[in-house]
Amino acid sequence: MDFAQSARSKDVCARLQAFMDEHIYPNEETYERQMHAFGENRWQTPQILEDLKKVAKAEGLWNMFLPDSELGAGLTNLEFAPMHEIMGKVGWAGEVFNCSAPDTGNMEVLERYGTAEHKERWLKPLLAGEIRSAFLMTEPAVASSDATNISTSIVRDGDEYVINGRKWWSSGVPDPRCKVYILMGKTDPNAPTHLQQSMIAVPAGAPGVTMVRTLPVFGFDHAPHGHAEVLLENVRVPASNLLLGEGRGFEIAQGRLGPGRIHHCMRAIGVAERALERMCKRLVSRTPFGKKLSEQSLWVDRVADCRTEINMCRMLVYHAAWMMDTVGNKVARSEIAQIKVACARMTQRVVDMAIQAHGGGGVTTDFGLAEAYAYARILRIVDGPDEVHNRSIGTMELRKYSNR
Ligand SMILES: Cc1cc2nc3c(=O)[nH]c(=O)nc-3n(C[C@H](O)[C@H](O)[C@H](O)COP(=O)(O)OP(=O)(O)OC[C@H]3O[C@@H](n4cnc5c(N)ncnc54)[C@H](O)[C@@H]3O)c2cc1C
Repeated sequence: MDFAQSARSKDVCARLQAFMDEHIYPNEETYERQMHAFGENRWQTPQILEDLKKVAKAEGLWNMFLPDSELGAGLTNLEFAPMHEIMGKVGWAGEVFNCSAPDTGNMEVLERYGTAEHKERWLKPLLAGEIRSAFLMTEPAVASSDATNISTSIVRDGDEYVINGRKWWSSGVPDPRCKVYILMGKTDPNAPTHLQQSMIAVPAGAPGVTMVRTLPVFGFDHAPHGHAEVLLENVRVPASNLLLGEGRGFEIAQGRLGPGRIHHCMRAIGVAERALERMCKRLVSRTPFGKKLSEQSLWVDRVADCRTEINMCRMLVYHAAWMMDTVGNKVARSEIAQIKVACARMTQRVVDMAIQAHGGGGVTTDFGLAEAYAYARILRIVDGPDEVHNRSIGTMELRKYSNR
């Protein structure tokens, strides 16, 4: 195992950190103020975001997520992992560098499995940060943590596919800049289980697409990005919009997942680090019953637990990233599942303690902790709930013994 940071990773991290210090942290208030100024129609992009995108692009801090690609920075998963921790400390920072979900995963899909036409129409503007995208898999009517249940139909009719179904938790759909959905559905309900699903590109707002409502997370709308319920009624798209071929949806999903997990987990570590930083600052500044909180052994112990758990998770993610780079996503399946469970749980615990340290202040939006808690809590559900990943980890572990 070798987790030593390469020279090019160190260089990009240093430049990224400097950018965060110079442009992102000083503009957190500006971002909030501009969002606030939108009033009720919050599905608009704050100008500061577009301004900073231009600066990041000019500084070459752009599309760092694409591994082994001439389109991105060509960094390995291990090299890129620490950058996501740096960006993760501010919720909207990833987008400034064109490194935010679900665009990163969708761009990877289009780059790997898209045709020249798909690339020209969607990948190019996505890589340029001119449009955004969404990934439509989850459905309200079925237990979607088992993707074989996904039942939106994709039926061939001449030169077109006709799509019917209802999706929800489609992140990014409310954003007016979202121009394409990568949708998962069934092309053949009678095929073997893992060959029933396909993925297809659907232009946002195509005839028959209705955004039914936006879905808040514990009251946070996550504007301007957001999440939506989407109804698809007889939506017709050219047959050439199908990605890779009929029945190959699972194959694409497998390819999409590995790097995304590293990104999610490192962002979570960034959120946990920031919560710990806020917690420590609070503990040294508050004095109940004549003694600073930071001098009370209970809080010293809690800070120690947070520090240890964050460091453990970081090492676990570096290990999974190193495995992906050296033996591939398939062999690293258990490690990739482990980080998803461990990082989400750790972030929830650390943010929870930071909230406790802030007392009533912790549950307001003044310290960013309520938002961080909502984020940490959804991490235990999105991209597969804890139980589903643990089921894979446990099954793989037990399989080692079942044939003895
Ligand atoms: C904020 C947010 C953003 C999201 N963004 C997207 C997106 O962009 N695109 C998209 O397609 N989806 C998205 N999702 C959906 C998310 O991926 C799903 O909610 C998740 O996969 C779980 O599916 P489900 O909601 O249908 O839960 P279900 O499948 O109904 O599962 C419910 C619960 O059952 C339990 N469970 C499931 N399987 C097992 C098992 N084998 N053993 C024991 N218990 C089990 C788990 O506790 C699980 O939480 C998002 C969700 C949220 C909250």
